[in-house]
Amino acid sequence: MAETKKTPVSEAEEQTIELWESRGTFEKSIAQRQSAEAFIFNDGPPFANGLPHFGHSLVTGIKDGILRYKTMRGYYVPRRNGWDCHGLPVEFAIEKEFGISGKKQIEELGIEKFNSACRDSIFKYKADWETFLTRYGRWSDYEHYYATVDRDYTESVWWILSEINKKGLLYRGLKSVPYCPRCATPLSNFELNEGYKDNVSDPSVFALFPLKDDPSTKLLAWTTTPWTLPANAALAVDNKADYAFVKLKSDGSTLILAKDRLDVLDLRDHDYSVSKTVKGSELVGLRYEPLYPLPEGRFDGQQTKNAHQVFSDASVSLEDGTGILHVAPRYGETDLALGQRENLPLVESVDSSGHQIYGPSEALGKFFKKADEYIIADLTHKDRLFAAETFTHTYPFCWRCDTPLMYFATSTWFVEVSKVREQMIRTAEDINWVPANIKNGRWGKWLEGARDWAISRNRYWGAPMPIWQNVDEPNDYIVVESIAQLKELAGTDIKVDDLHRPFIDEISFIKDGKTYKRVEEVLDCWFESGSMPVAQYHYPFDNKEETEKHLTADFITEGLDQTRLWFYVQHVISTILFDKPAFKNVIVTGIIMAADGQKLSKRLKNYPPTEDVFDIEGADAWRLYLLSSTQATETADYMRFDRPGLTDLKRNALDTMSNSVRFFKTYSGLDNWQTPKTLQEPEASNLLDRWILVRTEQTIELSTKSVESYKIAHAILPIFDLVDDMSNWYIRRSRKRFWKSENDTDKTEAYNTLWYVLVRISQLLAPWAPFISDKIWNELTQGSGLTDSVHLSDWPSVKEPNTASLKLLDNMLKARKVVEHGLGLRMFSSDTQQQVKVRQPLKTLTYSGDRLGEDYENIIAEEVNVKEVKSTWSDEKDRDMPFKVWIDKEITPELKAEGVARELVRAIQNARKNAGFNVEDRIHLAFESQTTELTGAFNQFNDTIYAETLTTAELANREEAEHSETVKVDGQEVTIWLKRA
Ligand SMILES: [Zn+2]
Repeated sequence: MAETKKTPVSEAEEQTIELWESRGTFEKSIAQRQSAEAFIFNDGPPFANGLPHFGHSLVTGIKDGILRYKTMRGYYVPRRNGWDCHGLPVEFAIEKEFGISGKKQIEELGIEKFNSACRDSIFKYKADWETFLTRYGRWSDYEHYYATVDRDYTESVWWILSEINKKGLLYRGLKSVPYCPRCATPLSNFELNEGYKDNVSDPSVFALFPLKDDPSTKLLAWTTTPWTLPANAALAVDNKADYAFVKLKSDGSTLILAKDRLDVLDLRDHDYSVSKTVKGSELVGLRYEPLYPLPEGRFDGQQTKNAHQVFSDASVSLEDGTGILHVAPRYGETDLALGQRENLPLVESVDSSGHQIYGPSEALGKFFKKADEYIIADLTHKDRLFAAETFTHTYPFCWRCDTPLMYFATSTWFVEVSKVREQMIRTAEDINWVPANIKNGRWGKWLEGARDWAISRNRYWGAPMPIWQNVDEPNDYIVVESIAQLKELAGTDIKVDDLHRPFIDEISFIKDGKTYKRVEEVLDCWFESGSMPVAQYHYPFDNKEETEKHLTADFITEGLDQTRLWFYVQHVISTILFDKPAFKNVIVTGIIMAADGQKLSKRLKNYPPTEDVFDIEGADAWRLYLLSSTQATETADYMRFDRPGLTDLKRNALDTMSNSVRFFKTYSGLDNWQTPKTLQEPEASNLLDRWILVRTEQTIELSTKSVESYKIAHAILPIFDLVDDMSNWYIRRSRKRFWKSENDTDKTEAYNTLWYVLVRISQLLAPWAPFISDKIWNELTQGSGLTDSVHLSDWPSVKEPNTASLKLLDNMLKARKVVEHGLGLRMFSSDTQQQVKVRQPLKTLTYSGDRLGEDYENIIAEEVNVKEVKSTWSDEKDRDMPFKVWIDKEITPELKAEGVARELVRAIQNARKNAGFNVEDRIHLAFESQTTELTGAFNQFNDTIYAETLTTAELANREEAEHSETVKVDGQEVTIWLKRA
């Protein structure tokens, strides 16, 4: 990638990173709180076999922000990076690398070779991740990371599974599970939920099943999965529903279907008459001609006898189809239940790789969805097809590889989550969710419907299931809880350095004369990430006591999809093992969309590269932009990443903050002002000082309360308001106090106040904008004896506002409102529609309601530039008057002259600027004009003009001038000569 030119902001951020590294600031921030109460954060481990992308910036910012905040609040906040290493994403990448696909080819290549390639790939992008996270300002211990691939980690996972088994919650069952034929492995129902697609087009087939005893009478059944028809074992009806025997005019045959579903015929314009109606129960036991015979020699006599007849089943729907269900026990949940209840043959027509292995010869070897058309053709050929159409519905696909899923009855290990459902709901009661509605909504509903969790995967690169099975008696198995136990069983000389397949598969043992072999499966990688809260510490083998102190994390955060994935699996495991929730507080993040409202897309390039944002706007602006969005951090909504919005935020908040610091540094430096030794609220007598100090207290309170309830945007937005008030009201209104030449108490108090406010703002910003806040802190606190990083400082304590402070805030708000209205009135006068420049003083401003007091009225007078400010208040009844402001616009000659004097001040200020003088330079000034109006005003307001332009004397000799210029003031020419004093 081409090197972009870094902005000064970006360079300053990189210098801050270097400073942190050289000073060990992060390590210090942890070490100095070592003995304090711990704040536990569970980090969702990312996969390091893929690059970090733009979307990671949001959750990364939230994690880092909350943890920096808690550190400043005095907690001990250990942070350690973790990496997710196992699972299908890794396997896919390696299959691609070798140019192979599917289990067969992997086994031909060899599991050892395959897994070794997986291992080599897992940290492929670890360095890129660390670079991204570090540049973004995410503090973490990258060196002492944990990884789910580690032997210790796996041993903890084994122990967890053995505990679940001890509680009687592990079982093996033939279950119909969502199954990805491409990955050749079952999916858990939460993975299933991630992959539903709408408007999927599938066949809609009505097949005919002639009765054995009366072939001209045919049962009409409906299916959307023709590929399962060769596996048909039975038909099912609703025994309470009415079924009609209808005679078709076209061929004289009789069809049987539910009475409520006769529109199947009507909609297709069939001419028919109903010959009789019977209850479904009367159809039970009817035998029909199978479409395909049972595969020979596969099923016992009883199963063969049971097959191909009508059964009654509660799952039969009268909402769609014909009210007669085609039953293929291997390929559906209700089908399997019926098949097991009635001891039906489980015909396998599609194998575990999704290929047709039984049915018409044309279909054999075809991928199951592709086989549909050949089976339909075969039905036509056999005259067993009533109608074949297509329809659209919602269908699940593999969330990893996008292959259409099938339901497949397979032997799978389950955690019996349905048994602990109530317990999980109870342990979840105290979890604080942001946004709150997820607690009883998406999450709560999910817990209520919690189902057994299929935890085994017929794959290779994962934690091996620690289950050794008696080769002669599959129901006799041992769940091994530790390496030590395995050695006890299999001998101390076994190799256990690497617990992965195929090495672990080689370990078998004999116990009580019976031979035990490990089951082939590996664990669902979600089982591993759900074990993370304790497995990262190698619990219970190491760190037992310490880990048990913090079984429930204080905080976690990830995207909405994790509600049913990582958040859920942690909660399942924590509830079963410890009867505790896995976490106390959780922020569900929003989703970043591109500016055009579309998903972030590499192909469409609808978002900037991360390096580009780092190099131009910088990480602080990026973080603040995302974190101050309520959609992103509080309502789990979509937010658009709009780069101009990011630029605006940088200018309005960060640049304003930097400019204010520069202003402060410039003047306080000139005046040799002494930095305070401690960070204490200064004495203040001036109204503006008192006001900005109360505003700061108020912001500390608002911001703190918001973070405490994990509302991040609401913790940041008040800081932006404070920065704006400080710059555009406090500093602007106080400028003259900083400019004046004498170093009196008022000036010292102004410096003390501004310093205090800036330092406090840097603290409030620290969690969210860690770079600029630390830069400001360092610039302002040098020589103060305060700590050398804002991140090592203590969060400001919250002071509840008292009545006097509230009154002060209220009054200033009203004064500013009067100013705003007053300036508005100057812009447009109702009688003349003429604008009066602000530099032209006016006589009187009157406002409605209570008197604000002299201090406020002085401010209003200066801002609106009027000679007098008064209130209409005279007695109690005036209090209810609506808010109003009036201005007397008559310009007397006296006022006119003053207005001209102000214009002259502006002209001289401009000349100073054009001369290139510094703002603090004192000058000598000469002035000449042909008009008496200008000279008159100059002489009359000489003192004011000198004071405001830092003129100390008249420039006697114009030859010595460093700069001169002739400009127009009030339409008349004037020449100005300047020289630095
Ligand atoms: Zn798949």
